Amino acid sequence: GSDDCTLKYEAADKGAVVIKQKTFYHKDAIDLVLQELISEKDGVIKSTKDIWAVGHRIVHGGAYFNKSAIVDDDVINKLEQCILLAPLHTPANITGIRACQTLLPGVPEIVVFDTVFHNTMPKKAYTYGIPKKLSEKHNIRKYGFHGTSHSYVSKRVMQYLDVPVEESKVVICHLGNGASISAVKGGKCIDTSMGFTPLDGLVMGTRCGSIDPAAVLFLMERENLTPLEADRLLNKKSGLLGISGVSSDFRDVEIAAMEGNEDAKDALEVFKYRIATTIGGYITALGGIDALVFTAGIGENSITTREGICEYFEYLGLKLDKDKNNVRNDEREISADDSKVKVFIIPTDEEIEIAREVKQLLDK
Ligand code: ADP
Repeated sequence: GSDDCTLKYEAADKGAVVIKQKTFYHKDAIDLVLQELISEKDGVIKSTKDIWAVGHRIVHGGAYFNKSAIVDDDVINKLEQCILLAPLHTPANITGIRACQTLLPGVPEIVVFDTVFHNTMPKKAYTYGIPKKLSEKHNIRKYGFHGTSHSYVSKRVMQYLDVPVEESKVVICHLGNGASISAVKGGKCIDTSMGFTPLDGLVMGTRCGSIDPAAVLFLMERENLTPLEADRLLNKKSGLLGISGVSSDFRDVEIAAMEGNEDAKDALEVFKYRIATTIGGYITALGGIDALVFTAGIGENSITTREGICEYFEYLGLKLDKDKNNVRNDEREISADDSKVKVFIIPTDEEIEIAREVKQLLDK
């Protein structure tokens, strides 16, 4: 419905295509994508009949899903139960599934969840300090998000490490508009910074991250906020945007800080400090660390942020190689040869991870 609807499409060995076409419904948008996939000039397949399955990235599987699933009525019912847990994303996800069912009748739709990678967390990591009766009644616990990204990156980093997978201790920083860190031991997630919803943990573009819940109750009372208004304040007006007053976009905040804006400088310091202290906690949970990995928009591109975070861990013998770190959007090791902890940039690829998951499920 936006005036600026844009489809960017690029197939291997072919030029990029940018199509500006106003679409009002998910179905029309997905149809546009399908038309590009089969277009004679830019496409990669001859007809939509060549599509064997569609993978959908779903943000919240709640307590209903501990693995990916092939969509049927029962899956849709369970997804509808998850709407309350991710009210912005889940209805759009369901609409996307319905649109694909209409456009590609008979083709299996597979749902792949952002929460599933974190299912291996132990109880002590996912339990909140509230009455057990209530947490059980409402399924309130830490779920964790960005699972497809953490999963992809945690597998990818293994090819650079000398330790066997089952002994590996890795901390992954997914730093984008939404941001989360996970602690991965032996290839399995043991803790992560997002919680019951993607609002918890790090300070993000517009999300506050961890905050004393009493401060929220206090604000609601003093500012006369409904739960919906409080939700909007913490999800949409806080984080880097809230602290800096400049923007939720990291680049804008960096520029403002360079120009001397004190609030922007504060926002960047708070952002890095929260990340560093979270990593520190995870090193304790892991009992050490073999590798620290940066991914997503800020993690892949912000040279100063990686440097600022790594400085906190010099006490551990972690040393960044400033020349190797002077890069954007490349996959490489950026630690010095004599660093006790290896540091990497690994651009995330959630699409390939979802595609592999779909193939694995269908092969079964
Ligand atoms: P999401 O997928 O969560 O929307 P991304 O992973 O695309 O987010 O990351 C977006 C963030 O990455 C934005 O805050 C953007 O400013 C930041 N970013 C992108 N490029 C750069 C860059 N060159 N330097 C610093 N930050 C960057």
